[in-house]
Amino acid sequence: MKVAIYSARAYDREFLDRENTRHGHELVYIDAHLDCVTAPLAAGFPAVCLFVNDHADAKALDILAKGGTRYIVLRCAGFNQVDLEAARSLGMTVARVPAYSPYAVAEHAVALIQTLNRKTHRAWNRVREGNFSLGGLLGFDLHGKTVGVIGTGRIGSVFANIMQGFGCRVLAFDPVVSIPLQSSGVTYVPLETLLQDSDIISLHCPLTPDTHHLINGHAIRQMKAGVMLINTSRGAVIDSSALIQGLKSGHIGHVGLDVYEEEDALFFEDLSNQVIQDDVFARLTTFPNVLITGHQAFFTSNAMQHIAETTLENIRCLGQGLPCAHIVQAPNPIG
Ligand code: NAD
Repeated sequence: MKVAIYSARAYDREFLDRENTRHGHELVYIDAHLDCVTAPLAAGFPAVCLFVNDHADAKALDILAKGGTRYIVLRCAGFNQVDLEAARSLGMTVARVPAYSPYAVAEHAVALIQTLNRKTHRAWNRVREGNFSLGGLLGFDLHGKTVGVIGTGRIGSVFANIMQGFGCRVLAFDPVVSIPLQSSGVTYVPLETLLQDSDIISLHCPLTPDTHHLINGHAIRQMKAGVMLINTSRGAVIDSSALIQGLKSGHIGHVGLDVYEEEDALFFEDLSNQVIQDDVFARLTTFPNVLITGHQAFFTSNAMQHIAETTLENIRCLGQGLPCAHIVQAPNPIG
């Protein structure tokens, strides 16, 4: 099948091309994000392949449908970037990669915690300059700390288990209780209790109307003074302005972010020669106790291989009219 692959980077080509030797699809790579301006580039392609920051809104989907596109194949788990109602009304089928490596994302959350706590990024710079002083590098033992996990699905469960391995007490909030996780020693509590009792809070829920700005000024004020907040889920789960207020007041001790609510104007691009226009993001980068990575938590070779395998298999099934287990049905999450 002819597939237009938007937001394509060198690493996408590497994994998709290698896997495609087993499939023989005609893959055409497009650097640009999908939006209503770039949608005409896919005219004549029955399938388009999208990533997290493409904009498959009603207007873009309408242009794609008029050009003959019938399948929207996401090479990611989240589908908040697609207007599912519009896709349905245009007769388009949307498929995704529901899980590729929960370990990749959970382990990155732990990397953020460890770096913020033990300040290895600052120590690395110091040692290179012959500065062996320890002032400002003081951390704390993770052992015995209370860690709150919001969202205990695939990634949250792996994260909770890792933190139990450090000797942490793990609290969880999720409308759906995981019995295996509960049996392993994790305690499910109301959100308010989790916010009040946790030394570290890590977000692993999807972006939905219920979770949009779940972490706002009210939630931050309930947290322990000095709390460490980690977000590897979706940027808009946190109200960034409230986060900055919490940091300026000193109430929040550390923040680790792999996602940001306005990241689609920034992430996955080399902007090192440009002036960042987003003042909220720019302010966040000025805090010594904030560590930001550019949506790389998923980025391991294991995850990229799974993404390529599942994406091309989804295209094969859709093209041959075979059952596809990864069709997105529910119009839950929001963009
Ligand atoms: P999942 O569907 O397995 O788990 C999500 C969990 O969140 C479920 O248990 C669900 O019940 C729970 N949940 C839903 N609404 C909630 C609420 N209001 N409060 C608390 N919990 C709630 O998903 P997953 O595979 O574990 O992924 C979690 C999220 O991680 C994804 O939605 C995505 O946004 C994000 N993600 C980020 C990256 C990255 O590279 N940074 C990569 C993959 C996924």
